[in-house]
Amino acid sequence: MATFGQLGRNPDEILADLAAKRDGDIRWEDGRAFGAVYDGGPGVKEVAERAATLYLHENALNTRAFPSLAEIQRETVGWTADLLHGPETTAGFLTSGGTESILCAVKAARERAKAERGITTPEIVLAESAHAAFHKAGHLFGLTVRKAPVLDDWTADVDAMAELVGDNTALVVGSAPQYPQGVIDDIPAIAALASSVGASCHVDACMGGFVLPFAEMLGRDVQPWDFRVEGVTTISADIHKLGYAPKGVSVILHRTKELRRYQTFVFDGWLGGLYASPNLQGTRSGLPMAAAWAVMQYLGIDGYADLVRETLDNADAVRAGINAIDGIRVLGDPGYHLLALASDPKADNPVDVFALADALTERGWMMDRQGPPDSLHATVSNSNSGIVNEFLADLAAAVAEVGETTTDDRSTNYATLE
Ligand SMILES: *Cc1c(COP(=O)(O)O)cnc(C)c1O
Repeated sequence: MATFGQLGRNPDEILADLAAKRDGDIRWEDGRAFGAVYDGGPGVKEVAERAATLYLHENALNTRAFPSLAEIQRETVGWTADLLHGPETTAGFLTSGGTESILCAVKAARERAKAERGITTPEIVLAESAHAAFHKAGHLFGLTVRKAPVLDDWTADVDAMAELVGDNTALVVGSAPQYPQGVIDDIPAIAALASSVGASCHVDACMGGFVLPFAEMLGRDVQPWDFRVEGVTTISADIHKLGYAPKGVSVILHRTKELRRYQTFVFDGWLGGLYASPNLQGTRSGLPMAAAWAVMQYLGIDGYADLVRETLDNADAVRAGINAIDGIRVLGDPGYHLLALASDPKADNPVDVFALADALTERGWMMDRQGPPDSLHATVSNSNSGIVNEFLADLAAAVAEVGETTTDDRSTNYATLE
């Protein structure tokens, strides 16, 4: 453990120490991680790093002092709104990530329900596949979460959700796609459910926001999920995932500026003057915003389409490869970049996938454990190009090696509690 010394140190030594600390981290630059970091390639990284250096110290708290950041936000949000087929009225903000975008959507839905329908005991209706961030939002902002099951195909059970929707419903949630199994919910049905009681409808496209629009351009058959679906009021899309920006940036979009107003906080009773802030942060780094702007400019629509083509080709190959190995299978039929690998109950020798995860880790591959049901999660991307065959060969070898061995470790940590 390094001590906080009385005397400062030499920058070269400090940087060498920092570099050495990374030795135990996953090797995402080799394409051996299925998630966490999405690598757009050397050109994307270079432009992001140069933009980050320019905006390392800038503060987006007060965009009057930094009008450039107001412009960067307006343009980045505008491009995202266009990709997601938002009408002219669409308005949004940049946030620090998917969780913050979701928190903002929930807060806006709560304020809207109170203002328009007098709801003082607001509820969120969602499926058990919806991201944990909605539960965090309910916890923080005092909304009760009502949770419905999923169907056999892992999409939200909309009939079960309908049973939970009522006079106190402030928000109904759908995912495009949901994280655990990677399938897209029936967004038109979910949005209609929200509209039937005058509630807001959020589509969580944190993972899909920068994939599905390009998948559609590439001719894939993408079911309706964006602002073209009537009744969708907010959408979250993470630029720091498949938008290829470095961490710390997501977009929250509202169908209109009037709806967006429910998100912002304005306080005029402080000795420091009128305080207005759009999302949860106060002081706010300009770095991720500028880097996101730069990456989007660098790639353009064609650049994203090329990366998405590669991502989807890799994902198709990984899914087919998994399903061809006896003992394991992909849950459901996710058509995009997310998948869950589980044991195949129909196989002669169903595999303990958590024991399989350990065997994969020994071979230098990183897949998150999740459940229920016990499964391994992968976010496949262009970063995995060139290693797909090696991965599938290692996977087959690991399945054979694990055989009927099981592990006592049933943990599914997705957490930092230190
Ligand atoms: C990643 C993710 C989130 C949360 O976003 P963070 O950037 O991790 O805060 C929410 N929903 C889905 C579907 C996600 O994949």
